[in-house]
Amino acid sequence: MKKEASVILAKCASDKLYGIRIEKRDNDWVRTWAFKIKEEMAEKEGFDKINFTGSFYTDEEYPGCPYCGAKKCFVCGSCGKVSCYDGSDKVVCNWCGASGTAASDDGKMDVSGGGF
Ligand SMILES: [Zn+2]
Ligand SMILES: [Zn+2]
Repeated sequence: MKKEASVILAKCASDKLYGIRIEKRDNDWVRTWAFKIKEEMAEKEGFDKINFTGSFYTDEEYPGCPYCGAKKCFVCGSCGKVSCYDGSDKVVCNWCGASGTAASDDGKMDVSGGGF
């Protein structure tokens, strides 16, 4: 069976970009790897254009953010982009600065946007 996989772009604090490799298992997306990436590179590869709907989970082997080690991330309800999530109630988007309340803390995320 062919593996379906892609990369979504996420941002840590201080404008540090990284890519999250996701893989389709059954009908869910699973985050399996994270790596540092430069903005030019991400744009060239088109990672900044990728959008997903549905849920995604974290693989046990997922190493977390390459900068801060966060294993969780959240999707901004305003801009729809992914930022590191440290597990607190309040979240601030690293892309647009919008703040919100994290709705999910069980490793299951809504990536269709408006996930607060
Ligand atoms: Zn981070
Ligand atoms: Zn945002």
